[in-house]
Amino acid sequence: MSAFIEIENLSYAYPVNEGETPRPALDGVSLRIEAGSFTAVIGRNGSGKSTLAKQLNALLRPDAGRVLVDGLDTADDAQIWEIRRRVGMVFQNPDNQLVSSIVEDDVAFGPENLGVPTEEIRERVDEALAAVSMEAQRQKGPHLLSGGQKQRVAIAGVLAMRPRCIVLDEATAMLDPKGRQEVMEILEHLHRQGITVVLITHFMEEAARAERIVVMSRGKVCMDGSPAEVFARGEELRALDLELPFAIDLAERLREGGLALPQGILTEDDLLEALCPSK
Ligand code: ADP
Ligand code: MG
Repeated sequence: MSAFIEIENLSYAYPVNEGETPRPALDGVSLRIEAGSFTAVIGRNGSGKSTLAKQLNALLRPDAGRVLVDGLDTADDAQIWEIRRRVGMVFQNPDNQLVSSIVEDDVAFGPENLGVPTEEIRERVDEALAAVSMEAQRQKGPHLLSGGQKQRVAIAGVLAMRPRCIVLDEATAMLDPKGRQEVMEILEHLHRQGITVVLITHFMEEAARAERIVVMSRGKVCMDGSPAEVFARGEELRALDLELPFAIDLAERLREGGLALPQGILTEDDLLEALCPSK
């Protein structure tokens, strides 16, 4: 597989006032993210996840080391807009991301700014709204939508730019369980279509649905592996203030209680299947 993002020895500290010592928010991070992969990033507050996300589309640039996005160096001023077009970002608060008073105008905003011809904008907006199942609400005002629907419009706005990669920074944090489920289903759909997905989340159940989990601590990558590999390290995760997903935690406790459960239980469906196998 080819790397879509290649981060080599990346360090970054936010600017400080004179006399203060800068503290690295990212400290020697090296990470390769394959094209078309689905990666979750977890870690306690302040571990550097958002700073890493902003380095992925050149909202921030390295103090040291290098970030290559689809082969483009984020330190190169001439490439910034191309990088931002290829890597779409979705943030926590949907209200801060919607700029227009009508859903479809909001989705058109990005391609309009790129100078895409009107006919093609219409096509892109239709396609993006369909991808997030929001065609029926296209004429509505965003204020009439639920949190989950607003995030879906924000995702559609990113998709209308036809990015190769989408980065979500705690984008489900303000949503109810239904809204979170809607967003996760869209991400899985985009992943199946070959878009590279990077999902920063504090919901372990969401991380368990990725192909790979990267764990951050104090500006460094401290674990990196499949959900099964990472969640097998329960003690280390707890030491980082991270919980195990409910199903994995419960399966572990049932095993301790003497129940013979198979390995590899990640989701509630897996646990259910292990406890009451469907014939
Ligand atoms: P996370 O997203 O994992 O909570 P962040 O990347 O936001 O972590 O923060 C990493 C470190 O950088 C923390 O120590 C945080 O206080 C600091 N930091 C984050 N944003 C800023 C900023 N705008 N100015 C100064 N320091 C910041
Ligand atoms: Mg953050």
